Amino acid sequence: MTETIPNPLLKRAFLTPNRPMIRFKDRDYSFKEMYERALKQAGHLQSQGVKKGDYVAVLLQNHVDSVVMLLSLQLIGGIAVILNNRLTAEELAWQIEDSNSILFITEEGFRDKLARLQLEIPWLWKATIDTSNSMSPAVQDEVNLDDVCSVMYTSGTTGKPKGVLQTYGNHWWSATGSALNLGISEDDCWLCTVPLFHISGFSILMRSIIYGMRMVLHEGFNEGLVLETIETEKVTIMSVVTTMLSRLVEALNHRTLPSRFRCMLLGGGPAPLPLLEKCVEKNIPVFQSYGMTETSSQIVTLSPEYSISKLGSAGKALFPSQVKIADSNGKEIEANQSGEILVKGPNVTSGYLNREVESRKQFVDGWLKTGDVGYLDEEGFLYVLDRRSDLIISGGENIYPAEIEGILTSHPDIEDAGVIGAADHQWGQVPVAFVKKIGSVAEEEIIHYCSERLARYKLPKKIYFVDELPRNASRKLLRRELRQMLDK
Ligand code: ATP
Ligand code: MG
Repeated sequence: MTETIPNPLLKRAFLTPNRPMIRFKDRDYSFKEMYERALKQAGHLQSQGVKKGDYVAVLLQNHVDSVVMLLSLQLIGGIAVILNNRLTAEELAWQIEDSNSILFITEEGFRDKLARLQLEIPWLWKATIDTSNSMSPAVQDEVNLDDVCSVMYTSGTTGKPKGVLQTYGNHWWSATGSALNLGISEDDCWLCTVPLFHISGFSILMRSIIYGMRMVLHEGFNEGLVLETIETEKVTIMSVVTTMLSRLVEALNHRTLPSRFRCMLLGGGPAPLPLLEKCVEKNIPVFQSYGMTETSSQIVTLSPEYSISKLGSAGKALFPSQVKIADSNGKEIEANQSGEILVKGPNVTSGYLNREVESRKQFVDGWLKTGDVGYLDEEGFLYVLDRRSDLIISGGENIYPAEIEGILTSHPDIEDAGVIGAADHQWGQVPVAFVKKIGSVAEEEIIHYCSERLARYKLPKKIYFVDELPRNASRKLLRRELRQMLDK
Protein backbone atom coordinates (compact mmCIF):
# COMPACT_ATOMS: atom_id res chain seq x y z
CA MET A 1 0.00 0.00 0.00
CA THR A 2 1.34 3.41 -0.84
CA GLU A 3 0.87 6.11 1.76
CA THR A 4 0.13 9.75 1.22
CA ILE A 5 0.77 12.57 3.66
CA PRO A 6 -0.04 16.26 3.35
CA ASN A 7 2.55 18.20 1.39
CA PRO A 8 5.12 18.84 4.16
CA LEU A 9 5.55 22.57 3.60
CA LEU A 10 1.80 23.21 3.30
CA LYS A 11 1.17 21.30 6.49
CA ARG A 12 3.94 23.03 8.40
CA ALA A 13 2.83 26.50 7.26
CA PHE A 14 -0.66 25.55 8.46
CA LEU A 15 0.47 24.16 11.83
CA THR A 16 2.97 26.79 12.96
CA PRO A 17 2.84 29.68 10.47
CA ASN A 18 4.48 32.26 12.70
CA ARG A 19 7.33 30.23 14.06
CA PRO A 20 10.71 31.17 12.61
CA MET A 21 11.88 28.61 10.07
CA ILE A 22 15.19 29.94 9.01
CA ARG A 23 17.66 32.58 9.97
CA PHE A 24 19.88 33.82 7.18
CA LYS A 25 22.27 36.75 7.63
CA ASP A 26 20.48 39.16 9.98
CA ARG A 27 16.90 38.11 9.55
CA ASP A 28 14.43 35.40 10.52
CA TYR A 29 11.90 34.03 8.00
CA SER A 30 8.77 32.36 9.33
CA PHE A 31 7.26 29.19 7.91
CA LYS A 32 4.41 31.27 6.50
CA GLU A 33 6.73 33.69 4.78
CA MET A 34 8.81 30.89 3.28
CA TYR A 35 5.65 29.17 2.09
CA GLU A 36 4.34 32.35 0.47
CA ARG A 37 7.64 33.01 -1.26
CA ALA A 38 7.83 29.41 -2.46
CA LEU A 39 4.27 29.61 -3.75
CA LYS A 40 5.08 32.63 -5.92
CA GLN A 41 8.19 30.98 -7.23
CA ALA A 42 6.26 27.77 -7.90
CA GLY A 43 3.87 29.77 -10.10
CA HIS A 44 6.81 31.05 -12.08
CA LEU A 45 8.35 27.59 -12.45
CA GLN A 46 5.03 26.27 -13.62
CA SER A 47 4.85 28.98 -16.25
CA GLN A 48 8.26 27.71 -17.43
CA GLY A 49 6.67 24.32 -18.01
CA VAL A 50 7.64 22.48 -14.82
CA LYS A 51 5.09 19.78 -13.96
CA LYS A 52 4.79 17.10 -11.33
CA GLY A 53 7.45 14.43 -11.82
CA ASP A 54 9.79 16.62 -13.93
CA TYR A 55 13.47 16.61 -13.05
CA VAL A 56 14.88 20.10 -12.56
CA ALA A 57 18.63 20.54 -12.09
CA VAL A 58 19.63 23.19 -9.55
CA LEU A 59 23.08 24.59 -8.88
CA LEU A 60 22.77 26.92 -5.91
CA GLN A 61 24.72 28.31 -2.99
CA ASN A 62 23.60 28.24 0.64
CA HIS A 63 21.17 31.16 0.64
CA VAL A 64 17.60 31.74 1.77
CA ASP A 65 16.58 32.13 -1.91
CA SER A 66 17.99 28.69 -2.64
CA VAL A 67 15.78 27.26 0.09
CA VAL A 68 12.79 28.99 -1.50
CA MET A 69 13.73 27.42 -4.84
CA LEU A 70 13.92 23.92 -3.37
CA LEU A 71 10.62 24.41 -1.54
CA SER A 72 8.86 25.74 -4.63
CA LEU A 73 9.71 22.56 -6.50
CA GLN A 74 8.25 20.51 -3.65
CA LEU A 75 5.01 22.48 -3.84
CA ILE A 76 4.37 21.50 -7.46
CA GLY A 77 5.92 18.04 -7.37
CA GLY A 78 9.05 18.92 -9.36
CA ILE A 79 12.05 16.75 -8.52
CA ALA A 80 15.16 18.71 -7.57
CA VAL A 81 18.37 17.30 -9.02
CA ILE A 82 20.66 19.01 -6.57
CA LEU A 83 24.12 19.60 -8.00
CA ASN A 84 27.34 19.95 -6.05
CA ASN A 85 28.61 23.46 -6.64
CA ARG A 86 32.25 22.41 -6.58
CA LEU A 87 31.87 20.26 -9.70
CA THR A 88 33.57 21.31 -12.94
CA ALA A 89 31.48 22.41 -15.94
CA GLU A 90 32.04 19.01 -17.57
CA GLU A 91 30.93 17.13 -14.47
CA LEU A 92 27.85 19.35 -14.18
CA ALA A 93 26.93 18.79 -17.82
CA TRP A 94 27.24 15.04 -17.34
CA GLN A 95 24.92 14.99 -14.30
CA ILE A 96 22.36 17.32 -15.90
CA GLU A 97 22.21 15.11 -18.96
CA ASP A 98 22.27 11.88 -17.02
CA SER A 99 19.25 13.01 -15.00
CA ASN A 100 17.15 14.00 -18.04
CA SER A 101 16.40 17.34 -16.40
CA ILE A 102 14.04 19.60 -18.32
CA LEU A 103 15.34 22.86 -16.85
CA PHE A 104 18.57 24.09 -15.27
CA ILE A 105 18.38 26.74 -12.54
CA THR A 106 21.47 28.50 -11.30
CA GLU A 107 22.85 31.83 -10.12
CA GLU A 108 25.36 34.56 -10.96
CA GLY A 109 28.14 33.22 -8.75
CA PHE A 110 28.65 30.36 -11.18
CA ARG A 111 28.67 32.41 -14.39
CA ASP A 112 32.40 32.00 -15.03
CA LYS A 113 32.34 28.30 -14.40
CA LEU A 114 29.30 27.88 -16.63
CA ALA A 115 30.74 29.85 -19.54
CA ARG A 116 31.84 26.62 -21.24
CA LEU A 117 28.73 24.65 -20.40
CA GLN A 118 26.67 23.58 -23.40
CA LEU A 119 23.20 22.33 -22.64
CA GLU A 120 20.25 21.29 -24.73
CA ILE A 121 17.77 22.41 -22.07
CA PRO A 122 16.71 25.94 -21.01
CA TRP A 123 18.46 27.82 -18.22
CA LEU A 124 16.99 30.04 -15.57
CA TRP A 125 19.09 32.54 -13.62
CA LYS A 126 17.81 32.79 -10.06
CA ALA A 127 18.21 36.55 -9.80
CA THR A 128 16.19 37.23 -12.92
CA ILE A 129 13.17 35.28 -11.77
CA ASP A 130 10.30 37.72 -11.55
CA THR A 131 7.57 36.43 -9.28
CA SER A 132 5.41 39.58 -9.36
CA ASN A 133 3.01 38.16 -11.94
CA SER A 134 3.28 34.52 -11.08
CA MET A 135 0.36 32.37 -12.08
CA SER A 136 -1.37 30.48 -9.34
CA PRO A 137 0.39 27.12 -9.25
CA ALA A 138 -1.16 23.67 -9.12
CA VAL A 139 0.03 22.87 -5.62
CA GLN A 140 0.23 19.19 -4.73
CA ASP A 141 -1.81 19.07 -1.52
CA GLU A 142 -0.57 15.58 -0.80
CA VAL A 143 2.62 13.74 -1.51
CA ASN A 144 2.95 10.04 -1.90
CA LEU A 145 5.74 8.68 0.30
CA ASP A 146 7.06 6.83 -2.76
CA ASP A 147 7.26 10.02 -4.84
CA VAL A 148 10.80 11.15 -5.53
CA CYS A 149 11.55 14.47 -3.83
CA SER A 150 15.22 14.93 -4.70
CA VAL A 151 18.07 13.37 -6.60
CA MET A 152 21.60 13.72 -5.32
CA TYR A 153 24.63 12.27 -7.00
CA THR A 154 27.04 10.27 -4.85
CA SER A 155 30.44 11.86 -4.38
CA GLY A 156 32.12 9.65 -6.95
CA THR A 157 34.82 8.50 -4.56
CA THR A 158 34.86 4.92 -5.78
CA GLY A 159 33.70 5.42 -9.37
CA LYS A 160 31.38 7.52 -11.48
CA PRO A 161 28.76 9.37 -9.39
CA LYS A 162 25.29 7.79 -9.35
CA GLY A 163 22.03 9.74 -9.02
CA VAL A 164 20.39 8.59 -5.79
CA LEU A 165 16.58 8.71 -5.76
CA GLN A 166 15.41 10.19 -2.45
CA THR A 167 11.67 9.91 -1.86
CA TYR A 168 9.48 11.92 0.51
CA GLY A 169 9.26 8.72 2.53
CA ASN A 170 13.05 8.44 2.71
CA HIS A 171 13.32 12.00 4.06
CA TRP A 172 10.36 11.55 6.39
CA TRP A 173 11.82 8.42 7.97
CA SER A 174 15.30 9.87 8.14
CA ALA A 175 13.97 12.90 10.04
CA THR A 176 11.83 10.65 12.26
CA GLY A 177 14.72 8.31 13.04
CA SER A 178 16.92 11.25 13.97
CA ALA A 179 14.19 12.75 16.20
CA LEU A 180 13.59 9.45 17.98
CA ASN A 181 17.28 9.33 18.73
CA LEU A 182 18.03 12.95 19.63
CA GLY A 183 14.58 14.02 20.81
CA ILE A 184 13.08 17.32 19.75
CA SER A 185 12.75 20.30 22.02
CA GLU A 186 10.81 23.52 21.44
CA ASP A 187 14.07 25.40 21.78
CA ASP A 188 16.03 23.41 19.25
CA CYS A 189 17.90 25.31 16.62
CA TRP A 190 20.07 23.52 14.05
CA LEU A 191 23.05 25.31 12.55
CA CYS A 192 23.65 24.48 8.90
CA THR A 193 27.09 25.40 7.59
CA VAL A 194 27.31 22.26 5.46
CA PRO A 195 26.14 22.62 1.86
CA LEU A 196 22.42 22.32 1.09
CA PHE A 197 23.43 20.31 -1.98
CA HIS A 198 24.67 17.49 0.27
CA ILE A 199 22.31 15.25 2.12
CA SER A 200 23.88 16.59 5.34
CA GLY A 201 22.51 20.09 4.62
CA PHE A 202 19.32 19.17 2.78
CA SER A 203 18.30 16.84 5.63
CA ILE A 204 18.47 19.78 8.07
CA LEU A 205 16.00 21.63 5.85
CA MET A 206 13.65 18.62 5.80
CA ARG A 207 13.90 18.27 9.59
CA SER A 208 13.14 21.96 9.99
CA ILE A 209 9.87 21.50 8.06
CA ILE A 210 8.90 18.20 9.67
CA TYR A 211 9.74 19.24 13.26
CA GLY A 212 8.80 22.91 12.96
CA MET A 213 12.33 23.71 14.03
CA ARG A 214 14.35 26.84 13.41
CA MET A 215 17.54 26.48 11.43
CA VAL A 216 20.35 28.96 10.98
CA LEU A 217 21.85 28.92 7.52
CA HIS A 218 25.42 30.02 6.83
CA GLU A 219 26.87 30.45 3.36
CA GLY A 220 29.84 28.31 4.34
CA PHE A 221 31.91 27.21 7.29
CA ASN A 222 33.83 29.77 9.31
CA GLU A 223 34.84 28.58 12.77
CA GLY A 224 34.85 32.06 14.35
CA LEU A 225 31.38 32.84 13.05
CA VAL A 226 30.13 29.41 14.11
CA LEU A 227 31.24 29.89 17.72
CA GLU A 228 29.66 33.36 17.79
CA THR A 229 26.41 32.07 16.22
CA ILE A 230 26.13 29.18 18.66
CA GLU A 231 26.06 31.82 21.44
CA THR A 232 23.93 34.52 19.87
CA GLU A 233 21.37 32.35 18.05
CA LYS A 234 21.09 29.83 20.88
CA VAL A 235 22.06 26.96 18.62
CA THR A 236 21.54 23.49 20.12
CA ILE A 237 22.59 21.17 17.28
CA MET A 238 25.10 21.41 14.48
CA SER A 239 26.18 19.06 11.67
CA VAL A 240 29.90 18.81 10.95
CA VAL A 241 32.44 16.80 9.02
CA THR A 242 35.84 15.94 10.48
CA THR A 243 37.76 18.97 9.17
CA MET A 244 35.14 21.36 10.56
CA LEU A 245 35.22 19.67 13.93
CA SER A 246 38.99 19.85 14.20
CA ARG A 247 38.95 23.54 13.27
CA LEU A 248 36.27 24.19 15.89
CA VAL A 249 38.29 22.36 18.54
CA GLU A 250 41.31 24.54 17.69
CA ALA A 251 39.27 27.74 17.71
CA LEU A 252 37.59 26.92 21.01
CA ASN A 253 40.97 26.71 22.65
CA HIS A 254 40.24 26.72 26.39
CA ARG A 255 36.66 27.87 26.07
CA THR A 256 33.66 25.55 26.28
CA LEU A 257 30.40 25.47 24.35
CA PRO A 258 27.26 26.77 26.11
CA SER A 259 25.46 24.06 28.11
CA ARG A 260 22.32 24.34 25.93
CA PHE A 261 24.37 23.12 22.95
CA ARG A 262 23.55 19.42 22.95
CA CYS A 263 24.68 17.76 19.75
CA MET A 264 27.58 17.99 17.35
CA LEU A 265 26.48 15.55 14.66
CA LEU A 266 29.63 14.24 12.98
CA GLY A 267 29.38 12.39 9.69
CA GLY A 268 30.49 12.09 6.12
CA GLY A 269 33.66 10.12 6.63
CA PRO A 270 35.99 8.42 9.07
CA ALA A 271 36.59 10.18 12.37
CA PRO A 272 40.21 9.99 13.54
CA LEU A 273 40.44 8.64 17.08
CA PRO A 274 42.80 11.39 18.34
CA LEU A 275 40.19 13.99 17.37
CA LEU A 276 37.38 12.14 19.15
CA GLU A 277 39.56 11.88 22.26
CA LYS A 278 40.17 15.63 22.20
CA CYS A 279 36.40 16.24 22.02
CA VAL A 280 35.80 14.00 25.04
CA GLU A 281 38.46 16.00 26.90
CA LYS A 282 36.82 19.29 25.95
CA ASN A 283 33.31 18.11 26.71
CA ILE A 284 32.05 18.60 23.17
CA PRO A 285 28.92 16.44 22.78
CA VAL A 286 29.92 14.61 19.59
CA PHE A 287 27.43 12.19 18.05
CA GLN A 288 29.50 10.10 15.64
CA SER A 289 27.44 8.87 12.74
CA TYR A 290 27.56 6.75 9.61
CA GLY A 291 25.47 7.34 6.55
CA MET A 292 25.56 8.06 2.87
CA THR A 293 23.59 9.77 0.12
CA GLU A 294 21.69 6.49 -0.26
CA THR A 295 20.45 6.56 3.36
CA SER A 296 19.18 10.19 3.22
CA SER A 297 21.58 11.19 6.04
CA GLN A 298 22.78 9.25 9.13
CA ILE A 299 21.54 5.70 9.56
CA VAL A 300 23.80 4.73 12.48
CA THR A 301 24.60 7.10 15.36
CA LEU A 302 26.57 6.98 18.62
CA SER A 303 25.44 9.08 21.56
CA PRO A 304 28.10 10.88 23.62
CA GLU A 305 27.34 8.67 26.65
CA TYR A 306 29.23 5.96 24.72
CA SER A 307 31.97 8.28 23.47
CA ILE A 308 34.49 6.76 25.84
CA SER A 309 33.41 3.13 26.20
CA LYS A 310 32.78 2.78 22.45
CA LEU A 311 35.33 5.25 21.19
CA GLY A 312 35.55 5.10 17.42
CA SER A 313 32.23 3.34 16.95
CA ALA A 314 29.57 4.91 14.73
CA GLY A 315 26.89 3.55 17.09
CA LYS A 316 23.70 1.62 16.54
CA ALA A 317 21.18 1.77 13.69
CA LEU A 318 18.43 4.35 14.30
CA PHE A 319 14.97 3.08 15.24
CA PRO A 320 13.47 2.47 11.78
CA SER A 321 16.69 1.05 10.32
CA GLN A 322 18.92 -2.00 10.49
CA VAL A 323 22.55 -2.77 9.86
CA LYS A 324 24.34 -6.07 9.44
CA ILE A 325 27.69 -7.41 8.34
CA ALA A 326 27.83 -9.93 5.53
CA ASP A 327 30.40 -11.94 3.62
CA SER A 328 30.79 -11.68 -0.14
CA ASN A 329 27.81 -14.02 -0.64
CA GLY A 330 25.53 -11.77 1.39
CA LYS A 331 25.52 -14.21 4.34
CA GLU A 332 25.44 -12.57 7.76
CA ILE A 333 28.59 -13.01 9.81
CA GLU A 334 29.14 -13.06 13.55
CA ALA A 335 30.08 -10.27 15.95
CA ASN A 336 33.60 -8.85 15.84
CA GLN A 337 34.28 -10.28 12.37
CA SER A 338 34.70 -7.74 9.63
CA GLY A 339 32.82 -7.83 6.37
CA GLU A 340 30.70 -5.63 4.13
CA ILE A 341 28.22 -3.32 5.86
CA LEU A 342 24.63 -3.83 4.67
CA VAL A 343 21.81 -1.46 5.60
CA LYS A 344 18.04 -1.57 5.40
CA GLY A 345 15.24 0.79 6.35
CA PRO A 346 12.56 3.16 5.06
CA ASN A 347 15.18 5.91 4.81
CA VAL A 348 17.23 3.86 2.34
CA THR A 349 16.89 4.66 -1.36
CA SER A 350 15.12 2.27 -3.67
CA GLY A 351 17.85 2.74 -6.26
CA TYR A 352 19.72 4.95 -8.66
CA LEU A 353 18.20 7.12 -11.37
CA ASN A 354 18.15 5.41 -14.79
CA ARG A 355 20.35 2.54 -13.56
CA GLU A 356 18.02 -0.35 -13.01
CA VAL A 357 20.53 -3.14 -13.49
CA GLU A 358 23.17 -1.51 -11.28
CA SER A 359 20.53 -0.73 -8.64
CA ARG A 360 19.37 -4.33 -8.51
CA LYS A 361 22.94 -5.55 -8.05
CA GLN A 362 23.38 -3.23 -5.10
CA PHE A 363 20.60 -4.89 -3.10
CA VAL A 364 20.28 -8.39 -1.59
CA ASP A 365 16.88 -9.28 -0.11
CA GLY A 366 16.05 -5.62 0.49
CA TRP A 367 19.44 -4.85 2.03
CA LEU A 368 21.71 -2.22 0.43
CA LYS A 369 25.34 -3.27 0.01
CA THR A 370 27.30 -0.18 1.03
CA GLY A 371 30.75 -1.11 -0.26
CA ASP A 372 32.12 -0.23 3.19
CA VAL A 373 33.86 -2.66 5.51
CA GLY A 374 33.17 -2.82 9.23
CA TYR A 375 32.13 -5.01 12.11
CA LEU A 376 29.52 -5.08 14.85
CA ASP A 377 30.68 -5.76 18.39
CA GLU A 378 28.78 -8.20 20.61
CA GLU A 379 26.46 -5.38 21.73
CA GLY A 380 25.61 -4.36 18.18
CA PHE A 381 27.76 -1.22 17.94
CA LEU A 382 29.04 -0.61 14.42
CA TYR A 383 32.70 0.09 13.71
CA VAL A 384 33.33 1.36 10.17
CA LEU A 385 36.78 0.38 8.98
CA ASP A 386 37.04 1.64 5.43
CA ARG A 387 35.86 1.17 1.89
CA ARG A 388 36.11 -2.38 0.65
CA SER A 389 37.93 -1.24 -2.49
CA ASP A 390 40.66 0.46 -0.40
CA LEU A 391 41.47 -2.40 1.94
CA ILE A 392 45.18 -3.27 2.06
CA ILE A 393 46.10 -6.90 2.67
CA SER A 394 49.65 -7.27 3.92
CA GLY A 395 51.03 -10.70 4.77
CA GLY A 396 47.45 -11.90 5.37
CA GLU A 397 46.61 -9.00 7.73
CA ASN A 398 43.90 -6.49 6.84
CA ILE A 399 44.99 -2.87 7.01
CA TYR A 400 42.51 -0.01 6.80
CA PRO A 401 44.03 3.17 5.33
CA ALA A 402 41.66 5.44 7.29
CA GLU A 403 43.22 4.34 10.59
CA ILE A 404 46.73 5.26 9.43
CA GLU A 405 45.53 8.55 7.89
CA GLY A 406 43.91 9.42 11.25
CA ILE A 407 47.26 8.98 13.02
CA LEU A 408 49.20 10.89 10.37
CA THR A 409 46.88 13.91 10.46
CA SER A 410 47.08 14.02 14.26
CA HIS A 411 50.75 15.03 13.84
CA PRO A 412 50.97 18.81 14.25
CA ASP A 413 53.13 19.24 11.12
CA ILE A 414 50.84 17.25 8.85
CA GLU A 415 47.84 18.91 7.25
CA ASP A 416 46.52 16.09 5.11
CA ALA A 417 47.38 12.49 4.34
CA GLY A 418 46.35 9.60 2.13
CA VAL A 419 47.36 5.95 2.43
CA ILE A 420 47.20 3.17 -0.17
CA GLY A 421 48.71 -0.27 -0.65
CA ALA A 422 51.84 -0.68 -2.79
CA ALA A 423 52.82 -4.03 -4.31
CA ASP A 424 55.51 -5.78 -2.29
CA HIS A 425 57.25 -9.06 -3.18
CA GLN A 426 57.46 -10.20 0.43
CA TRP A 427 54.10 -9.13 1.88
CA GLY A 428 51.89 -8.86 -1.18
CA GLN A 429 51.05 -5.26 -0.30
CA VAL A 430 52.46 -2.70 2.13
CA PRO A 431 50.97 0.65 3.14
CA VAL A 432 52.57 3.81 1.76
CA ALA A 433 51.55 7.36 2.66
CA PHE A 434 51.15 10.61 0.75
CA VAL A 435 51.53 13.55 3.07
CA LYS A 436 50.94 17.27 2.83
CA LYS A 437 53.11 18.85 5.51
CA ILE A 438 52.91 22.30 7.04
CA GLY A 439 56.11 22.14 9.07
CA SER A 440 59.57 20.82 8.30
CA VAL A 441 58.95 17.27 9.43
CA ALA A 442 61.07 14.48 7.87
CA GLU A 443 60.11 10.99 6.70
CA GLU A 444 61.90 9.16 9.56
CA GLU A 445 60.23 11.37 12.15
CA ILE A 446 56.78 10.60 10.72
CA ILE A 447 57.42 6.86 10.70
CA HIS A 448 58.72 7.06 14.27
CA TYR A 449 55.56 8.96 15.30
CA CYS A 450 53.41 6.26 13.72
CA SER A 451 55.43 3.45 15.32
CA GLU A 452 54.42 4.73 18.77
CA ARG A 453 50.75 4.52 17.80
CA LEU A 454 50.35 1.70 15.28
CA ALA A 455 51.20 -1.99 15.06
CA ARG A 456 54.38 -2.66 13.09
CA TYR A 457 52.67 -4.14 10.03
CA LYS A 458 50.56 -0.99 9.64
CA LEU A 459 53.54 1.39 9.49
CA PRO A 460 53.80 3.20 6.16
CA LYS A 461 56.87 1.88 4.35
CA LYS A 462 57.36 5.07 2.41
CA ILE A 463 56.24 8.66 2.77
CA TYR A 464 55.71 10.72 -0.37
CA PHE A 465 55.48 14.45 0.23
CA VAL A 466 52.92 16.18 -1.98
CA ASP A 467 51.59 19.74 -2.29
CA GLU A 468 47.97 18.64 -2.33
CA LEU A 469 46.07 15.38 -1.92
CA PRO A 470 43.60 14.51 -4.71
CA ARG A 471 40.10 15.15 -3.39
CA ASN A 472 36.77 15.24 -5.20
CA ALA A 473 34.08 17.92 -5.12
CA SER A 474 32.94 16.59 -1.74
CA ARG A 475 36.51 16.93 -0.46
CA LYS A 476 36.77 13.16 -0.18
CA LEU A 477 40.13 11.58 -0.70
CA LEU A 478 40.54 9.89 -4.10
CA ARG A 479 42.76 6.94 -3.26
CA ARG A 480 42.35 5.60 -6.80
CA GLU A 481 44.25 8.69 -8.02
CA LEU A 482 46.98 8.03 -5.47
CA ARG A 483 47.27 4.52 -6.90
CA GLN A 484 47.70 6.05 -10.37
CA MET A 485 50.40 8.39 -9.02
CA LEU A 486 52.26 5.38 -7.65
CA ASP A 487 52.00 3.48 -10.93
CA LYS A 488 53.61 6.33 -12.88
P1 ATP B 1 30.60 7.04 -4.32
O1 ATP B 1 29.48 6.20 -3.80
O2 ATP B 1 30.25 7.68 -5.61
O3 ATP B 1 31.93 6.35 -4.33
P2 ATP B 1 30.70 8.32 -1.70
O4 ATP B 1 30.36 6.97 -1.19
O5 ATP B 1 31.93 8.98 -1.17
O6 ATP B 1 30.79 8.28 -3.32
P3 ATP B 1 28.71 9.72 -0.16
O7 ATP B 1 27.35 9.14 -0.20
O8 ATP B 1 28.85 11.20 -0.10
O9 ATP B 1 29.47 9.29 -1.47
O10 ATP B 1 29.52 9.17 1.08
C1 ATP B 1 29.15 8.05 1.84
C2 ATP B 1 30.39 7.29 2.27
O11 ATP B 1 31.14 8.06 3.23
C3 ATP B 1 30.10 6.00 2.99
O12 ATP B 1 29.75 4.94 2.13
C4 ATP B 1 31.43 5.77 3.71
O13 ATP B 1 32.42 5.21 2.87
C5 ATP B 1 31.85 7.17 4.10
N1 ATP B 1 31.45 7.40 5.52
C6 ATP B 1 30.34 7.98 5.99
N2 ATP B 1 30.32 7.97 7.34
C7 ATP B 1 31.45 7.34 7.73
C8 ATP B 1 32.02 6.99 9.01
N3 ATP B 1 31.43 7.29 10.16
N4 ATP B 1 33.19 6.35 9.02
C9 ATP B 1 33.82 6.02 7.86
N5 ATP B 1 33.34 6.32 6.64
C10 ATP B 1 32.18 6.96 6.57
MG1 MG C 1 29.01 5.54 -1.93
